[in-house]
Amino acid sequence: MDCIIVSMWILVVLLGLTTGGLINALGDSLPYLRKPAMPRCPHCGHARRPVAWLGLIARAARAWRCPECSRARGYRAITVELAAVLGTMLLYWREPSPASFWQGYLVGALFLLIMVIDIEHRLILEVVTIPSMVIFGIIGIVDPARGFGKVLFGGLAGYAFVLILYFLGILFARIMARVRGRELDEVVFGFGDVMLAGVIGLIVGWPGVIVALILGVFAAGLFSLIFMLVAILLRRYTPFMAIPYGPFLILGAAFIYYGGAVLLRGAFAG
Ligand SMILES: [Zn+2]
Repeated sequence: MDCIIVSMWILVVLLGLTTGGLINALGDSLPYLRKPAMPRCPHCGHARRPVAWLGLIARAARAWRCPECSRARGYRAITVELAAVLGTMLLYWREPSPASFWQGYLVGALFLLIMVIDIEHRLILEVVTIPSMVIFGIIGIVDPARGFGKVLFGGLAGYAFVLILYFLGILFARIMARVRGRELDEVVFGFGDVMLAGVIGLIVGWPGVIVALILGVFAAGLFSLIFMLVAILLRRYTPFMAIPYGPFLILGAAFIYYGGAVLLRGAFAG
């Protein structure tokens, strides 16, 4: 194989690995400090040694436990690093032109970060969503394929769509509280989901954002149903068990953003 091609692929793998490490570091700092910090133990805040910055290296180098609080690291570190490497490779394979590669890369990294924090903490942080709105708003507006109207209207539509679901969720919680005589612990959609939908709208644009969000809500509903059935079968069912919606909204958005729209159009046209 050509030497340049091999070196490009090595760079792509290294980029994915670094990105995974960065997402892990942010996942261990943002929910606690609300700002980025050097890699640290999320339990005690102890700064990680450079050998423990990457989960894969920490595992191999026996630096898996925090030297301060001796808590073991979760497998999220390795999962995220592998997902980032695989995602970056796939993207480079499909979109080698720099402009589309870097856009797709930024979107993928953001989506992975939001998923990690939402799954672990049931939180979508404004310190993530607000800068993303600015960055992806600008990227979308200067991209000649999308432009001002499509991007801005997409953002507003996404925000409004989930804002309505958010208010319906509060209404539902109020009604159920009255019927059952006590408060529900969780509302269906949090305000973080509304902010996330705004970001998704700016990234996917109008009208794809609506398809993306409907897919996400549908996938979440399907997952809840299966989850509920399994819980009933195992006799562990409690009503209104809440699942994080963010990861499902992101899956819907990723599907549309990375070319699923073309697939859907093909399916409906043919
Ligand atoms: Zn620790």
